[in-house]
Order: sequence, then structure tokens, then C-alpha cells
Amino acid sequence: MLQIHENVSLQNFNTFGIDASARYFVEINHEDDLVELFLDPQWKTIERLVIGGGSNLLLTQNFNGLVIRMNIRGIEHRINHTDVFIEAGGGEVWNDLVNYAVKWEFAGLENMSLIPGSVGASPIQNIGAYGVELKDVFDSCRAFEITTGEFKTFDKAACQFGYRDSIFKQHKGEFIIVSVKFHLSLVANINTRYGAIEQELNNRGIVNPTIKDISQVVSHIRVSKLPDPSTIGNAGSFFKNPVIPVTEFEPVKAQYPDVVNYPAGEGLVKLAAGWMIEQCGWKGKVVGNTGTWKNQALVLVNHGGATGEEVYGLSSQIIDSVYTKFGVMLEREVNII
Ligand SMILES: Cc1cc2nc3c(=O)[nH]c(=O)nc-3n(C[C@H](O)[C@H](O)[C@H](O)COP(=O)(O)OP(=O)(O)OC[C@H]3O[C@@H](n4cnc5c(N)ncnc54)[C@H](O)[C@@H]3O)c2cc1C
Repeated sequence: MLQIHENVSLQNFNTFGIDASARYFVEINHEDDLVELFLDPQWKTIERLVIGGGSNLLLTQNFNGLVIRMNIRGIEHRINHTDVFIEAGGGEVWNDLVNYAVKWEFAGLENMSLIPGSVGASPIQNIGAYGVELKDVFDSCRAFEITTGEFKTFDKAACQFGYRDSIFKQHKGEFIIVSVKFHLSLVANINTRYGAIEQELNNRGIVNPTIKDISQVVSHIRVSKLPDPSTIGNAGSFFKNPVIPVTEFEPVKAQYPDVVNYPAGEGLVKLAAGWMIEQCGWKGKVVGNTGTWKNQALVLVNHGGATGEEVYGLSSQIIDSVYTKFGVMLEREVNII
């Protein structure tokens, strides 16, 4: 029997540590729970928010609807020659899945070690880090469609993955991801292209890194760069790195020759949002109870007692100043609720 709780604090359910509450709250442990929940028509019409680890959310007010917390567990794998297929419940912790793969020496997830959050949220913004994106290892996912009450399978093409984007982000709230299947390999394709990985491997004297080495090195770099949400509230990168046409990039480059940029496909350039924010003087700045992280200006933090509105206000100021200086509009990566 499903338990619907009322007036639940969400402070421990979002990594920003924002003190907001949910009018109704339910935890989903099995696929059948979703079927049972939506047999009651009141939950189909009320405002809903699906959450996993709450590591990509900014709660700007109390949520006057139903929060659905995904907690479906389980990890299974199947090996076919050198191909490995791992299927994990949407409520599994992402890094537990990475550790499972590393332990079995299944290659593909190691560069995405230590990303916070759940497996079910990983396709939503096509998570990525250190040169690898979810889409590179994604096979398919199973999702509950709220309007029809049916479970559907999405293959990679159906997910329409882009940079921090997918069909689930475009059609927010229509589907609840209950499990994700990944296509890994017994043959390691070690990816050390991201500068800091090479450097840290050199520091450790590792010449032929294993999957485990990469996972450990990536975890080490992340811990040294990013604030730990258990001690200082944050949601990782607050903004996306803007991707702009070369024609718009040229005048920026002419004025700021050292602008940090990467090729992003035919006629497109990706700019480093963190660098631009830093150039505007925001790095490490404290504004009331909030601010930007001292080692990475792209990360907004809660220094204690910040409201979601305060953090949102700071993000608006940052967007304005980057636009004024560079003529480039930043887009928030974090989901604003
Ligand atoms: C310190 C730190 C570092 C980070 N580093 C990275 C990084 O390197 N790369 C990166 O890509 N991200 C990064 N993030 C962001 C975050 O970890 C990812 O976006 C992660 O996938 C969010 O998972 P979650 O379970 O916490 O999602 P939540 O924050 O709970 O939800 C995020 C969004 O997904 C939706 N959602 C969640 N679960 C489901 C589901 N089962 N079905 C349907 N919709 C769902 C929610 O409604 C919401 O819109 C970082 C965050 C932090 C705090």
C-alpha cells in the first residue's frame, strides 16, 4: 500500500540544502507503485515533481503538489562475448552503478565516476564528464508514461540526446524513468584525453591505466575541484557551457583573444561558462548566504540558510554581467522549481 505523506521537508532531498517543503510526498520502490499511484485520478491532475538525488534542482519555493521520489533498486548484467549489458533501477545511486561496473572490470562508465544523483535521472540531461557522455554507453531505458499509464522502452535514437539535453527534458514531467540499460564492454577503451586525467596519471606514475585507475583519478580530481554537497550545498555546474555559431564567436575572440573555447561541431563553438563568469569577477564571491565556489565559478553554493530565491537572484546577476561583457547569454543547467 502506497504511503502519501503530507507537508514533508525537502531539505534532505536536494543537494543545495534549500529548506522548502512538499505538499504531498511519495516514495516509489517498485514499478507497480506507479501504476497504483496513478489509478487515483487526483495525482494525474496535480502538479508533480519527480526526484532522484535532488542534485540538479533549485527549489525556489514550497512545492504545492506531489513530489515522487524514485527509489527502484537493483543492478543486473549480462555478458555476450565482449559486450556487457547492465540494467539498473532508476532509484539506484549513479556512483554505486559506476563502482559495480569498475569492480567487474566492465568498461565505459569510469570517466563518469562520482557524478551525484540517480540512475533514473542520468538520461534526462544526458549527464557527462571528463570526455564521456551518457549517450556513449546508453542502450535503452524503460519509462512510465503518466497520461496512458503504460511502460515504454526508449532506444538511443528515441531519446534525442544532445548536450545536457534529451526528449525527457523537452517533455518534462510526461515520463518517469524506472530503469536504464547500458552497453559496456569487457575491452577497455581508456579515455584520458581530458587534460587533468593525463596529468594526475603522470603524478601517480601510471603508464597503462586500468578502468579502476581512471575511476580513482577522476574521483580524486572531482573531490579537489568541486564542493562536497554534504558540507556545502550546491548542484554542480549551475549553467551550461554556451554553444554559439562561429560568426558570433569571432567578435568575442577579437575582443578577448584568450577566451576559452572548444570546437562543437560544424560551424559551432563551445565557450567555457566558468571562465567567462570568472572574468566578470564572480569567482569565490559571497553574496548574502550564497555565492560562487572558490575553485570553480560555474558552481553556485549555499553558504548556509540560503533560500532558493537568493540563489536564483545571484544566477540572474551572473547572466546579466556575462551578457554585458561578452554578449553571450548563459542558460541555467539546474532545474528551477
Ligand atoms: C557536486 C556536483 C557535481 C555534479 N557534476 C556533474 C557532472 O559532472 N556532469 C553532469 O552531467 N551533472 C553533474 N551534476 C548534476 C547532477 O549530478 C546530474 O544532473 C544528475 O543526473 C542528477 O540526478 P538526480 O537523481 O539528483 O536528479 P534530480 O536532481 O533529482 O532531478 C533532476 C531532473 O531530473 C528529473 N528526474 C529525476 N529522476 C527522474 C526519473 N527517474 N524519471 C524522470 N525524471 C526524473 C527531475 O524531475 C529533474 O527535472 C553535478 C551535481 C553536483 C551536486
